[in-house]
Amino acid sequence: MGPVHRQSELLGHSILGTQRIWLLRQGCGGPAPVLLDLMRYTTQFLLSAMAASQFPAPDVPEIAFLGRSNVGKSSLLNELVGEKAAKVSSTPGRTRAINFFALLDQSQRRKLVFADLPGYGYAKISKSISAGWAEFIDPYLAIRSTLKLCVCLVDSNVPAQESDGQLFDWLRSAEREFVVVATKIDRLSGNERTRNLLALKKGLGLDEVLPVSAKTGYGVGALWARIEEAGSRE
Ligand code: GDP
Repeated sequence: MGPVHRQSELLGHSILGTQRIWLLRQGCGGPAPVLLDLMRYTTQFLLSAMAASQFPAPDVPEIAFLGRSNVGKSSLLNELVGEKAAKVSSTPGRTRAINFFALLDQSQRRKLVFADLPGYGYAKISKSISAGWAEFIDPYLAIRSTLKLCVCLVDSNVPAQESDGQLFDWLRSAEREFVVVATKIDRLSGNERTRNLLALKKGLGLDEVLPVSAKTGYGVGALWARIEEAGSRE
């Protein structure tokens, strides 16, 4: 990993629920990074939906977060948008709902919506994402018009799981864009990282897996860049 990448990892941090992100890009004339942009969002909880009829009206680009229970989704959301989202999403009764959050810019304009989907548990998932949720999770992923990117979390410490593979197959068949993020990467040594990431890619048939740590903030800047890119696409 080059110095530009390492430096960009250090630059994203959250302050009391307000996220500051500096996106870096390689300067044209050489390897030095240049400051590209400064974005600051505040997070506003919108609602918890237990049925498709409760989804908020589609307006701004939406990013969905998916993963098995305990994968580190609340912790990563906390890193991305502040404690509020993580707290709401782990409140009993809301863990089986889709929790929607708006990200507001400095003029309080809605720029993005994050949709935190229920952890899909350890049970095998079959054709639908998970038994019992077919009524609203499948339709959400299949028809949500503003959904631009699915951020799918897998644990970097755990071998490829069939349920994750089924989810990715489902997303491919639905022609949904998704990025796979390997969580808790701080728990692995350099060699283990390389080995586990390679095994996950191979086991899940992926070209790319983005390593992240909610604990150290590693990879969070790179994930933000993917989210921004997807959110700004028409
Ligand atoms: P969720 O069920 O997917 O929302 O998972 P949580 O965010 O609640 O995390 C599950 C467990 O993994 C908790 O004990 C977290 O402290 C731990 N965890 C989450 N992210 C990280 C990480 O980046 N590094 C480490 N070392 N532990 C993590």
